[in-house]
Amino acid sequence: MLNKISFKCEHCGHSLFVSAESAGRKGRCPKCREAMIIPNDAQIINQEKKNSKNKSASDWYEKGHSLTLSGEYNKAIECYDKAIEIDNNFAEAYFGKGICYHQIGDKNNADINIKKAKKLGCKDAIEYLKITE
Ligand SMILES: [Zn+2]
Repeated sequence: MLNKISFKCEHCGHSLFVSAESAGRKGRCPKCREAMIIPNDAQIINQEKKNSKNKSASDWYEKGHSLTLSGEYNKAIECYDKAIEIDNNFAEAYFGKGICYHQIGDKNNADINIKKAKKLGCKDAIEYLKITE
């Protein structure tokens, strides 16, 4: 299980999702590029790591997941796409992809993917939609 925190950028109001381990550290908003300190008291979202029944889809998901945590969102999206190509009902891969789009400020693609994840039964997606809608 990976803990993520959610908070709003103090500069532009964009809601951000980062790993809980980054709390208290310096970060940069992916949307407005302003530097900030990631708050310690942000809301924690528990992201359960889920796997596909297909091993290579799971492997791509894992890659996408770690690229997301290191902030390489465009590369992560490519990995999630590969996972979805193999297993097109892989809810968490859609969610992960949606989070990446959200982080780079592409609200339209974020919504499409997160709603698809929700449809497939991803609990994180339901939580996310509660925060952002
Ligand atoms: Zn910002």
